[in-house]
Amino acid sequence: MDQIRIDNLEVYAHHGVYPEENRKGQKFYVNAVLYTDTRKAGQQDDLELSTNYGEVCLFIQDYMTERVCKLLETVAEGLAEAILLQFPKIRKLDLEIRKPNAPIPLPFTSVSIKITRGWHKVFIAFGSNMGDRDTYIANALQSIAEHPLCRTEKVSSVLRTTPYGGQAEGEFLNGVLQIRTLFTPEELLEVLHELEAEAGRQRTVHWGSRTLDLDILFFDDLVMSTEILTIPHVDMQNRDFVLRPLCEIAPYFRHPVTNQTMQQMLENLTEHHVL
Ligand code: AMP
Repeated sequence: MDQIRIDNLEVYAHHGVYPEENRKGQKFYVNAVLYTDTRKAGQQDDLELSTNYGEVCLFIQDYMTERVCKLLETVAEGLAEAILLQFPKIRKLDLEIRKPNAPIPLPFTSVSIKITRGWHKVFIAFGSNMGDRDTYIANALQSIAEHPLCRTEKVSSVLRTTPYGGQAEGEFLNGVLQIRTLFTPEELLEVLHELEAEAGRQRTVHWGSRTLDLDILFFDDLVMSTEILTIPHVDMQNRDFVLRPLCEIAPYFRHPVTNQTMQQMLENLTEHHVL
């Protein structure tokens, strides 16, 4: 991706663990690499189609001088998030904050923190087969759409499906949504669990009836497996009620392990639950 780079922006601020640092302040230097598409702006010579680096520099200066943090880590984390929220054309950024006069009683040039943060493209499956299913789903979709760290991009139609896995009774409503988020996979899972809990979901029977089920299907092209999270979702290739809505909103998206498109995965299915 194209880059807009800011090198050694000098900001006088008051961050530090020691009260002396908070009182007197010191110089900080900021390096930022903003990942964005500059093609259209370049072709049309139009700043509106790009990100104004002058505005980004002033934004960094304001952010760093309007608050006092103990840790450079905190300044970097908050500033990266604020830049990504404020400047929508920036997809990802590398942010380095250097502190050349840190209180270290030894010769050194500078200490710094460098982080990379960005928007992640995520597909989430939703389902409900108990109680007021439409309302549970609508509330969850609204909460995600309104969350400051999430942007809903596409929502599939809602399908009526028969229960899957042999443990649930009652017809399901199922669908899929595509979002951008600044959350990590674990943080997003926590948010989804909170939404399930708000819908009164009791985690009793695996694959049992549920007021609301929210699963992470894909997170960029990440492949991961921990005790709490498997991405891509471990059973999605067997579920027509997941693959059909995926085909509606992202037919050419490829599974990062099998490299098959959603369309190809749906064609390979033998079991069908969509009514
Ligand atoms: P379920 O009863 O199917 O909703 O299973 C929920 C549990 O599966 C959660 O508590 C998660 O820790 C775990 N899990 C593993 N991978 C995923 C995923 N990709 N999305 C959502 N939950 C997952």
